[in-house]
Amino acid sequence: MKRRSTPTKEAVLNLLSNSGKAMSQDAIEQKINIDINRATIYRVLNRFCEDGIVHKIVAEDGKQYFAVCVDCEKKELPNYHFHFRCTSCQTIECLQEPVHFSIPKGYQVEGVNCVLTGICKDCSK
Ligand SMILES: [Zn+2]
Ligand SMILES: [Zn+2]
Ligand SMILES: [Zn+2]
Repeated sequence: MKRRSTPTKEAVLNLLSNSGKAMSQDAIEQKINIDINRATIYRVLNRFCEDGIVHKIVAEDGKQYFAVCVDCEKKELPNYHFHFRCTSCQTIECLQEPVHFSIPKGYQVEGVNCVLTGICKDCSK
């Protein structure tokens, strides 16, 4: 069954896709241009995650960030891309370039949750 599209859902999704970056729930709440409460934003975001439209990133600052999925379903593993948190402009981006890592023999990776922290390319110009 196709889920109903509501103005709320559209507003959240538009904001996320226009930003092109991952946003925290707080940032979404501040920037959204419609009257919407916290609980609704939370529910909408989690629904998007379930539907595979958005993925969630838990950064080392303990906050959850949400980003629109781009080609996520083509990857072998869920969230099989790395994220970069810029400490200067306080944004998180999905890194399109694969980051390679090796794991000890005998371990099988089923998920990746990795956030690199530093200065993004815009800020280091
Ligand atoms: Zn995704
Ligand atoms: Zn930056
Ligand atoms: Zn991502």
